[in-house]
Amino acid sequence: MQAEEYNRRAKELVDYITQYLVTIRERKVIPDVKPGYMKELLPDSAPTEPEDWESIFSDIERVIMPGVVHWQSPQMHAFFPCLNSWPSLLGDMLSDAINCVGFSWASSPACTELKIHVLDWLCKALGLPSFFMHHHPDSRGGGVLQSSVSESTLVALLAARNDKIFQLQAELEQDVDDSVLNSRMVAYASDQVHSSFKKAGLISLIKIRFLPTDEQFSLRGDALKKAIQEDKKKGLVPLFLCATLGTTGVCAFDNLSELGPVCAEEGMWLHVDAAYAGSAYVCPELRWSLKGVEFAHSFVFNPVKWMMVSLECTAFWVKDKYKLQQTFTVDPLYLKHEYSQESTDFMHWQIPLSRRFRSLKLWFVLRSFGLRNLQAHIRHMLSFFWDDETFWGGNTLTQELLRRLTQLGSLYLCPANIHNKFIIRYVVTSQFTTADDILRDWGVISKTTSTLLAETEI
Ligand code: PLP
Repeated sequence: MQAEEYNRRAKELVDYITQYLVTIRERKVIPDVKPGYMKELLPDSAPTEPEDWESIFSDIERVIMPGVVHWQSPQMHAFFPCLNSWPSLLGDMLSDAINCVGFSWASSPACTELKIHVLDWLCKALGLPSFFMHHHPDSRGGGVLQSSVSESTLVALLAARNDKIFQLQAELEQDVDDSVLNSRMVAYASDQVHSSFKKAGLISLIKIRFLPTDEQFSLRGDALKKAIQEDKKKGLVPLFLCATLGTTGVCAFDNLSELGPVCAEEGMWLHVDAAYAGSAYVCPELRWSLKGVEFAHSFVFNPVKWMMVSLECTAFWVKDKYKLQQTFTVDPLYLKHEYSQESTDFMHWQIPLSRRFRSLKLWFVLRSFGLRNLQAHIRHMLSFFWDDETFWGGNTLTQELLRRLTQLGSLYLCPANIHNKFIIRYVVTSQFTTADDILRDWGVISKTTSTLLAETEI
């Protein structure tokens, strides 16, 4: 394909994309395929001869779309929000064209500098402490875009571990192997924490303790204090707390104002996972759960969930960037450059070397909507929440209800296990969802529930 054809085909593809999204409610949200469906539709080997674009393009509807879960459908309510927007799509388009590998300032100055700027904007927009900002007097911190919350939490845990190893070695005044110190460390989170924290424990070999939450599914200071005391008696070293603001199961909030002082007293790293709810902090009236965030060493949230930025784009801030850099810096000659001392090289803040120009789409979204419209968007979505009569008929009935609703194929829901209760979660994942869509879904859920209850009473 040459430039002239690219130009023509790209315009056609943009037409297709626009049409796909504006008519998405006409597609069935759950695909009707079984594992291996694609094997029937594709040849066993890649083509030897070039194929023309028409035949590739026609395979989007023949091969791809039948197996797509339409996450942007107003009937998609499973997992977590995954809102997209037109400016974000444009940002990715430009990022793909520039296709720079922005690991250091010198590898693409605009890629690094826009990220710094946009992360500072976001930090202010969310009302986070100014010590997370790059451009703030006395700040040792800053923000970076990572590919996921999972990666950011792992990065925070590894930085905390490294810092604690230095500290313990200095205190012990003897050469104890890192692995011995590692084996004594323990990290904490509530029993509602996202599974990514468990994975961070598996990778780092740091013991993880999941602590009980209160009746609001919130982790409280006393529960943390009790666990720390027990572990210290066993000779363990409390290292890290992953507090969640907006849990995956029921969007519960850990009590930062109680947990923060405990972490500070114990010399522990406080990491805040606000993956899901973080976008809501653009609204000042929703910042009540941020109380205590001034104790945090790191904070992560996912603009890809609620801020209408497409995957992947995770905002991650640290209070002390040097603790990240001392953990992740490797400096081969071929990556050095003459401005290393006076610029930021994000390759020292992360696991991969390569990084995309992700800040472009975030920049486009922040500018196209403006904070005022982003606030209006969050408030509008919160207006969808309402209380109705609640009824829980036990795990078996709820599982059966979910099975029946999924079989209908007209809405996609997923479950959660909350303190041994099987529940069905309903999440708005699309920018196209309206109040009418939600009322329609509620009608389907109520009717299916009534039928099920009537059957079980017989
Ligand atoms: N943390 C919380 C609270 C989440 O809800 C999720 C995803 O739903 C994650 C972490 C994982 O995010 P990611 O897919 O970016 O790793």
